[in-house]
Amino acid sequence: MSELERKQDRAPVPADWTYAPAPESTDIVSLQDRYGLFVGGEWVEPASGEYFTTISPRDEEPLAGVAQAGREDVDRAVGAARDAFQNGWGKASAAERAKYLFRIARILQERSREFAVLESLNGGKPIKESRDVDLPLAAAHFFYYAGWADKLEYAFPNRTPKPIGVAGQIIPWNFPLLMLAWKVAPALAAGNTVVLKPAETTPLTALLFCDVLRQAELPAGVVNILTGDGRTGAEIVKHPGTDKIAFTGSTEVGKAIQRELAGTGKKLTLELGGKAANIIFDDAALDQAVEGIVNGIYFNQGHVCCAGSRLFVQESIYEQTIDKLKRRLTTLRVGDPLDKNTDVGAINSSMQLEKIAELVESGKEEGAEIYQPPCRLPEKGYWFVPTVFTNVAQSYRIAQEEIFGPVLSVLTFRTPDEAVEKANNTPYGLSAGVWTEKGSRILAMAQRLRAGVVWANTFNRFDPTSPFGGYKESGFGREGGLHGLEPYLKFDGETEEWGG
Ligand code: ADP
Repeated sequence: MSELERKQDRAPVPADWTYAPAPESTDIVSLQDRYGLFVGGEWVEPASGEYFTTISPRDEEPLAGVAQAGREDVDRAVGAARDAFQNGWGKASAAERAKYLFRIARILQERSREFAVLESLNGGKPIKESRDVDLPLAAAHFFYYAGWADKLEYAFPNRTPKPIGVAGQIIPWNFPLLMLAWKVAPALAAGNTVVLKPAETTPLTALLFCDVLRQAELPAGVVNILTGDGRTGAEIVKHPGTDKIAFTGSTEVGKAIQRELAGTGKKLTLELGGKAANIIFDDAALDQAVEGIVNGIYFNQGHVCCAGSRLFVQESIYEQTIDKLKRRLTTLRVGDPLDKNTDVGAINSSMQLEKIAELVESGKEEGAEIYQPPCRLPEKGYWFVPTVFTNVAQSYRIAQEEIFGPVLSVLTFRTPDEAVEKANNTPYGLSAGVWTEKGSRILAMAQRLRAGVVWANTFNRFDPTSPFGGYKESGFGREGGLHGLEPYLKFDGETEEWGG
């Protein structure tokens, strides 16, 4: 035995490794008791005088009162956005628009810890994700689109791009600030003004963002933020003064919006649900693939529309993969989102927790085999143990419906054809993952998978330069990259495709 091997033998290996708590301080965030609506650069009371309480899903403690905007408020916000569009923003030089976007990006970077803490507090995602993913990406989106603002005619040569007017934007609760950035940055870069509604369970970073707008001295009315539930969203969609609607959320609401807008001539983009296939071939680097599986479905508690919620493993490596995956699951730390060691945080709301639990029950009843690692969950708050279902048939609800939680359904395949056939057997088409050593197979699979994004040997990777969006019931239109500008522009002499 070599000297080195002997040393390795004697290296102390802790039998029962426990982490000390590493809580992120919340002192950096100062919350008001109550927030109004941000309209025309000012905080205003909702016309109805109605407020609701937003809580932290980690302990169910109230954080702040938030306004419920109604029809009158929407009217006021759309009016402010229209004025801002007509009186300056729509006509401002492109370089001027870029200046504000760069400012916003830099301020987000400067205040990123404050935003990250607030995001985790209000939404439940682990601080290491809000700190290392949401915030850097949100700032990157503003930087990226700031760069395009004065280059639009080069982006669309010979097409004379023009802003549309007032964009109504409705976003979900899974990436509150990042979805705001995906919506606001391209809209402003293209010269539009905005009325945006954050989701009812996660309004706080959008409200803090209003402070960034004031710090950046963005002209009043260019961005208006209205809080409220689905009723507020519906009013924004219906309002005759919104020229374009951008929606990210459930397929059900997306369909309702499409019905509502039929025949109105408003532009629409929809980014809806997903049930992504993550496909592991037998030549894949298995340990890396297991990390990709974990990242694919347990990142952000699985509250991700492009989550890799259906795992397809080639039969010859099935046992090995499942063994490794189960072992890896025992190392995931579930708990306080504000602890820097936490891998899986709190479920966003009690409603979402119920939905996950109901679908998991259906999986057991339909005959799938459940695995959950031993895990001690906090007493208060909303939690769900990372779950793997094996023995899943394609017809089971857990293989068909979007769970939007940390729940993975494992299926198998023998040949690439079978993998494609099964992966495409879903009403959705947002994303997919392929794990293999072979480049040619990656390209062949990417061509045949009906998904807006196909990741190869990675998963859940986002970049402002890369367009993101769906096929089929996952919606239409793209966000990110050059493609992401197009829905916010009209072009002289071109007939607009509805929904373009
Ligand atoms: P989820 O199931 O992820 O909560 P929803 O589609 O219900 O997704 O919500 C996404 C966003 O859409 C939220 O901001 C929500 O308030 C809003 N919303 C809900 N219902 C409607 C509606 N009928 N019209 C417009 N927006 C809506």
